[in-house]
Amino acid sequence: MATSRTLTREVKGVNRADVVLPFRTAACRNPLPPATTSSTAATAHRRPIRVVHVSDTHDKHYVNVPPGDILIHSGDFTNHGHDHELRRFRHWLDQQPHTYRVIVCGNHETGLDRLSLEDLNRCIIGDETDAAAVAPDASGRVAPARRATTRANTFILADAHVTLHGITIYGSSWNNIPGMAWGMKTPQDRAVQWSRIPEHTDILVTHQPAFNVFDRAFVRQPNPSEAMCSVCGVSHPGYDHWGCPSLMDRIQQLGIPLHMCGHVHDETGVRVVGCTTFSNAAMDWKQEASVIDVHVPHPEAASSLPPAPWV
Ligand SMILES: [Zn+2]
Ligand SMILES: [Zn+2]
Repeated sequence: MATSRTLTREVKGVNRADVVLPFRTAACRNPLPPATTSSTAATAHRRPIRVVHVSDTHDKHYVNVPPGDILIHSGDFTNHGHDHELRRFRHWLDQQPHTYRVIVCGNHETGLDRLSLEDLNRCIIGDETDAAAVAPDASGRVAPARRATTRANTFILADAHVTLHGITIYGSSWNNIPGMAWGMKTPQDRAVQWSRIPEHTDILVTHQPAFNVFDRAFVRQPNPSEAMCSVCGVSHPGYDHWGCPSLMDRIQQLGIPLHMCGHVHDETGVRVVGCTTFSNAAMDWKQEASVIDVHVPHPEAASSLPPAPWV
């Protein structure tokens, strides 16, 4: 039986990006920072919100996760959605120093797609007594106060949103693996779900990548004679594009500033395409988190920010 010790892995590096949220009226058509004029001077001194993105940890206990204001996990935190995996994940969440945690499930969270949002929250976050049920690891048992903090400041999103520090985050778990949790076969089926993504979304978190951005997955033995890919213009023998075209359509239609995903382990990082910054932070291969500073233009947004030891 694997112990929590053997499952521990280290976050080795980070991919960095900055995202400037537009004023609502600009509707994300101009991703450039607002000029520092008298009307925006009040926002100029304010520090950005640091968002740390990880994904596809698959029941491994990652240590040295970069600190920040909001920790986002975009799914596959277990291999099978088993209770003991969920308990270990809760224990890991309890150790993280971020003010808020936002969680979206992946296709490996087997069976959780049958739960209501309320039951999903209870199942993943647990209650105050859970710490006692978790075997202590190198970092020791978790104090009840820390459990209470995790419960209060963790948000499980399944076709739902939350607004934190003035940033609206929408999460959805639909993906391209039929037969697994939240799996749907065709982009057309998934488009019905993506149509629920609200217009005002600042950060979209899905397990599924969008088409042609960090979406090439190894699917078969490579054949070096495979032709150049008509989608991306390079030859990638053995790899297929797993990204969802209808998800990319929705992201572009709404001009969403920041998209976060996982699911494809083979290609990770951050990249700007159009007016959207894309992050795939699947940890399985590279063990690299994404650290993204989100600059919020709304005067009220960052008024309650705690000091930032990482600045
Ligand atoms: Zn997955
Ligand atoms: Zn995965």
